[in-house]
Amino acid sequence: MQSYKRLMRLSEEAILLQSISAIMDWDMETYMPAKGVPLRGKQIAILETLNHERITDPQIEKLLDEIKSDNDYSKLSDVQKRNVYLIERNYLREVKVPTELISKLAKETTLATESWKKAKKDANFSIFQPNLEKVLELSKKRAAHIDPDKEPFDVFLDILEPGMDSKYLTSLFNDLKKQLIPIMNKCLEASNQPDLSLIHRQCPIETQQKLAIDIAKLVGYDLEAGRIDETEHPFTTGYFNDVRITTHYSLNDFSSSFFSVLHEAGHGIYEQNLNSDWIYQPVAEASSMGIHESQSRFFENVIGRSLEFWRFYLLRFKDLTGKTFADVELEPFVQALAAVRPTKIRVAADEVTYSLHIIVRYEIERDLLMEKIAVNELPVVWNQKMEEYLGVTIKNDAEGVLQDIHWAGGGFGYFPSYTLGNIIAAQFLAEMKRLLPNFSDLIEQGKISPIKAWLNEKVHSLSNLYDPLDLVKRVTGKALNISDHINYLEKKYSEIYGF
Ligand code: ZN
Repeated sequence: MQSYKRLMRLSEEAILLQSISAIMDWDMETYMPAKGVPLRGKQIAILETLNHERITDPQIEKLLDEIKSDNDYSKLSDVQKRNVYLIERNYLREVKVPTELISKLAKETTLATESWKKAKKDANFSIFQPNLEKVLELSKKRAAHIDPDKEPFDVFLDILEPGMDSKYLTSLFNDLKKQLIPIMNKCLEASNQPDLSLIHRQCPIETQQKLAIDIAKLVGYDLEAGRIDETEHPFTTGYFNDVRITTHYSLNDFSSSFFSVLHEAGHGIYEQNLNSDWIYQPVAEASSMGIHESQSRFFENVIGRSLEFWRFYLLRFKDLTGKTFADVELEPFVQALAAVRPTKIRVAADEVTYSLHIIVRYEIERDLLMEKIAVNELPVVWNQKMEEYLGVTIKNDAEGVLQDIHWAGGGFGYFPSYTLGNIIAAQFLAEMKRLLPNFSDLIEQGKISPIKAWLNEKVHSLSNLYDPLDLVKRVTGKALNISDHINYLEKKYSEIYGF
């Protein structure tokens, strides 16, 4: 069908423009000189504008009409129909947003990201406040253009997690909170407490870089189709055979970089293994950010923070790190790596308390977008909620409201993806264990490739053929639910803490 081919050509151009933006962003976060920021802001803005023009090209509407009224429409494959559906969904949403607003938002988020960095360094929210106000204002306008009748948070959530809304999330998160707090308390009250001095030892950055490469390769991240660099805030970006991950090294805590590499490698493996038969088509993208986070959290926690994995890896780890960890023993070491304790910092949080950090952000972000709280009230509200949910006292903005980059980039609606990722990862794990009964043995032998192959086949290769809730149902046979996640946490942490 000619019109289908023409539609796919337009779509391919947009996808290529997005992949250019991704590499420009990566460059800005890694190697670009600081003075280049205003120029980069303009460069990214023009790319975003071009992309927006492509995905809202009036020809798309015409082509969609032609395709759907064509007698041969029913002969299109499911994959082709999905492409048509995804292009139409995106078109109908984005055509409502003026291109000028997209360009302004791109410029302001670049400036806000730089301002956030300075503010975080100085632990001073007031530096970032005016930039965040601008980004928030423009983001709310964007949401209002897309759907003025919907709560802005839901507009953003629907882009990242098609099929979900805040009503669904609120009930999911409330159930989760009720189950997580008792597990956290049992860990905190257990007599068997972790000795964190086993991990907080000086470990040279060069050694940590070797560890990063070793662990990324071990789990199947392809370094010939990617690379590992250093940034303040680790992330993954790129497309198919050029998917880059980043990490942040901390001299006195190797685990910070080690687990961020595993996390980002999980994202990288997903991106590198999307279905290459469909490259440059919308169906070849990730299903959702929650599915993305299920892959990163799977490698970081299910594998990386397990006793089985360290049964295999500890010897190799000792070899790679010289004398530093020569005296550590398996079980106390794993207990320290998986230690449950409320922290101020989300990315340093353990598996049990992690979702509480997300729930704090979810509640604040919805209120912020609905103007129930103002930007200048954020530090106070943040600190109150952290005290209430996690019992931690925030002493300055850097360890409080300024710790995450998301809002600076206009990434509203993103935080729930992390918790959805935890929940989905546990559902995938339960199904994987059913189909690979020797799952634990494989990890104990350091054989990650059959596990990665399972994910490649069941999840990665389906790419964006299904929306996230449908994908979870298809892979696991069950609707998304928290019970596998809770069972996983109870079993794992009762063993580690002996309750
Ligand atoms: Zn992630």
